[in-house]
Amino acid sequence: MSEDKAKVVILGGGTGGVIVANLLGRKAKKQAEVTLVSKQENVFYEADLPYRIFDKKSLKSMYKPVRNVVNKNVEVLKDEVIGLDLDKNSVALSSGNNLPYDYLVIATGAHYDYDGVPGYKEEAYHYYNEEGINEIRKALDEFVEKGTGGNVVIGIADLPFKCPVAPLEGVFMMEHFLRRKKLRKKTELHYLSPIGSAFSIEKANVHIEKKFAKKNINLHTFFNTETIHPDRKVIESLEGDEIEYDLLIMVPPHRGQGFLQGTPIVDESGWVNVNTKTLQNETYPNVFAIGDAANLPVSKAGSSAHYQAMATAHNLVDVLKGKLDISQVKERYNGHATCLVMTSLTSAMFFDFNYTRPPFGLGYISNRLFYYFKKYQRFLYFYGFLSGRL
Ligand SMILES: Cc1cc2nc3c(=O)[nH]c(=O)nc-3n(C[C@H](O)[C@H](O)[C@H](O)COP(=O)(O)OP(=O)(O)OC[C@H]3O[C@@H](n4cnc5c(N)ncnc54)[C@H](O)[C@@H]3O)c2cc1C
Repeated sequence: MSEDKAKVVILGGGTGGVIVANLLGRKAKKQAEVTLVSKQENVFYEADLPYRIFDKKSLKSMYKPVRNVVNKNVEVLKDEVIGLDLDKNSVALSSGNNLPYDYLVIATGAHYDYDGVPGYKEEAYHYYNEEGINEIRKALDEFVEKGTGGNVVIGIADLPFKCPVAPLEGVFMMEHFLRRKKLRKKTELHYLSPIGSAFSIEKANVHIEKKFAKKNINLHTFFNTETIHPDRKVIESLEGDEIEYDLLIMVPPHRGQGFLQGTPIVDESGWVNVNTKTLQNETYPNVFAIGDAANLPVSKAGSSAHYQAMATAHNLVDVLKGKLDISQVKERYNGHATCLVMTSLTSAMFFDFNYTRPPFGLGYISNRLFYYFKKYQRFLYFYGFLSGRL
């Protein structure tokens, strides 16, 4: 490795980190020594998780080793970041090494704080990672085997959380699943939303709430979960409402990663403060944050991490090649995000939006074609999006 090359360090080998690494590895190999640090061996395609509650298939198709999807010009370190010294431009790793950098990209995603809601660990199931899927599958099998139905509650512990449509997908697919198992008539389905509607984008929400009414799903708005009472099988909200459950499925509370807490670049929940269009920290302009780790007014989603990664990598390439000064990077991110939303086990909608534009009209038509896109999108993810070419 050459001494005169700039050092770019990327933290996190998930969607955002891998895309930045691939673009820099291809486009700035002469100007930069690029290192990607990830504590996980694999990169996951999480968009399949809600669907995977309902099939018995292995989850192996959802991940690939980070090394196999990252450009060979990038050094991949399997290590855990335990601290940052932003004034000395240095990253502390759990192996005891310190990594110096000229430019830093933080793409370490979100951490699930299972202790964030009393009773959560004892009572709530979720589908936000592989372990969650394994447990929820068992709980659902037991629910079906019992055959008595009851109250199935799907909710959100706290805001913000990854993929705002994932709990909606969960409730729509659950409704279809229960019909298939002939348990729908015996089961009340409840959806707890912490905001005043089922979904935050008003135009899209109209279509979502129509589906709630058609499918007879009880929508509880402004339900901010405070405590889960395992003894009474009741969830209590901050507003004082109580709902009984037989099966409780809840998105876990999300926070920024532990090593970021207490640094001067994060908010009280550990999300990195960055400019909404340049994705650059205003106090430390050589520090960028993308994806779930960033404090941005847009969905924490793989698609937004993808577009943010492209914007950041293009700015860094221009800086590394001397075409741009670090204090004048371009406003390259416009809030673009897309998502395919499962509306049953065999249909989906498609939302494409940005900071100022709501989703397109055609996307609201729930159909089989979007379902097939959703089902096979992981191939596009692993062989297209992650490369940074699409
Ligand atoms: C159930 C579910 C459904 C979803 N559905 C969709 C969907 O339909 N569409 C969509 O666009 N998005 C969806 N998402 C969201 C999407 O998966 C994430 O938003 C996306 O992966 C974020 O990318 P990221 O790079 O910011 O973080 P991640 O992909 O989470 O990557 C973060 C990486 O950082 C690593 N890391 C963390 N801490 C450290 C540390 N201290 N040291 C070293 N490495 C560290 C992690 O191990 C991980 O590899 C869904 C997510 C879930 C959970």
